[in-house]
Amino acid sequence: MKRLKAYQVSDGDDMTVIRYATSSAAARREGGNEIGCEWDGVDSCVRKPEYDQYAPGPVPAQALIEAGWRFECRRHGCGNWANRDTEELTLSTAGDPYCCEACMARHFARQRANAAAGAALQELVEAKLPSCQVAM
Ligand SMILES: [Zn+2]
Repeated sequence: MKRLKAYQVSDGDDMTVIRYATSSAAARREGGNEIGCEWDGVDSCVRKPEYDQYAPGPVPAQALIEAGWRFECRRHGCGNWANRDTEELTLSTAGDPYCCEACMARHFARQRANAAAGAALQELVEAKLPSCQVAM
């Protein structure tokens, strides 16, 4: 098996991804798909050997942020950017970037609430319709 190499694929606008592939052409095609571009829509496809160590990906957000990338805060609806200039930049243990600790806390609280609501709904449906099984 050929070794996967890191390529930075960009649409020249807002979208850039690191794509692992065995060739530049494959990286351009697959990376283009990922950011919603046809072959010709890809503005650049550049080798990034510094990210080879993370193959097959993803590259940790922290490594990209240190390299100057910015991410939208992971909390839905926040809209702030998380980058190396973000004063309260917070990374979850999974490596997801947030603009601040409060956003991360709210995001996790919402996930817990959704999980609890799902479990309650499952219980209700299975109580009312004993022959049904709710798959989550
Ligand atoms: Zn935020």
